[in-house]
Amino acid sequence: MPLVPMRQILDEAAKGGYGVGAFNVNNMEQIQAIMEAANETDSPVIIQASRGALQYSRLIYLKKLMEAAAEEYPHIPVAMHLDHGNSLETVRTAIDLGFTSVMMDGSLGEDGKTPNSYEQNVEVTRKAVEMAHPLGVTVEGELGCLGGIEDGHGAGLTAEETEAHLTDPVQAEEFVAKTGVDALAVAIGTSHGAYKSARRDPNTGEILPPKLAMDRIHEIHKRMPDCHMVMHGSSSVPRELVDIINKYGGKMPDTYGVALEQIQDGITHGVRKVNVDTDSRLACTGAIRKVFFEKPGEFDPRKYLGPARDAMKGVYLKRVKAFGQAGHARDYEPLTLEDMKEVYARGVRIKA
Ligand SMILES: [Zn+2]
Repeated sequence: MPLVPMRQILDEAAKGGYGVGAFNVNNMEQIQAIMEAANETDSPVIIQASRGALQYSRLIYLKKLMEAAAEEYPHIPVAMHLDHGNSLETVRTAIDLGFTSVMMDGSLGEDGKTPNSYEQNVEVTRKAVEMAHPLGVTVEGELGCLGGIEDGHGAGLTAEETEAHLTDPVQAEEFVAKTGVDALAVAIGTSHGAYKSARRDPNTGEILPPKLAMDRIHEIHKRMPDCHMVMHGSSSVPRELVDIINKYGGKMPDTYGVALEQIQDGITHGVRKVNVDTDSRLACTGAIRKVFFEKPGEFDPRKYLGPARDAMKGVYLKRVKAFGQAGHARDYEPLTLEDMKEVYARGVRIKA
């Protein structure tokens, strides 16, 4: 099966009332782990790569790995998505590589750090849509700014600043209407990376879960029931994965992620794409540390990358079941980018 336009995967998820995990990749083991999990659970899936991942894997390798994934599992709809495109140039590079979906993150400037004005965001995102839709490629935009930094991308906002950069539901409606995006990443207080919360219990000093403005998602869904929302920074950072890392010589401080219940609440209110990166990184690192600790004489990379792949697969299996995409791979006939070109030519847009 050729890679599928992400818009179709999200449209179908909306029809079925479920969310779809969008998992970040840099290498073969991650892609294989995602596909094994998707195949075992019959799940449509979104594989995404950041600019950092594309640089690390030197573009063509990642493209070929994603194509291999689609070829090995022809019955699984897979979208190949650019995560946090920082400029129209990056978006163009991804489209030329064969990505079926791109994120134009106009919430930040090209440096991936400085917040853009709303007008700048509208302008650059609209241009990305004008570039992508005639080619059948899906576009995700972002309104508001997320906390944290990952892969060098992010404004590095403090907790208070993050609060001031949450997505405004009224502006969201206007943004979707003016840009024509297929999916909207919302800032509701989630952060990228493993350290999502700076909140501590004032008495015990213990770290507390991040405070999320789920009401923003509820409000946007009420205003635009057709809008596919995207939750970024949605790793759950399971305690047991951090514990494995620390048990075998790691030194990760106490941390909290986004509770699966909150993601599921989002999914019942229009969240269709759930970005998860950190959790598989944790699983990978823990598995490798364990081998190194238990078998210090081991030097065959397959002996630790294999267990790392299995550990990541364990994470993906849990996520696809929790998000509800499991069992939905064969619900529909996948569209091609050619098919999508016609859909966009007919003027199909998210109603805002
Ligand atoms: Zn993100």
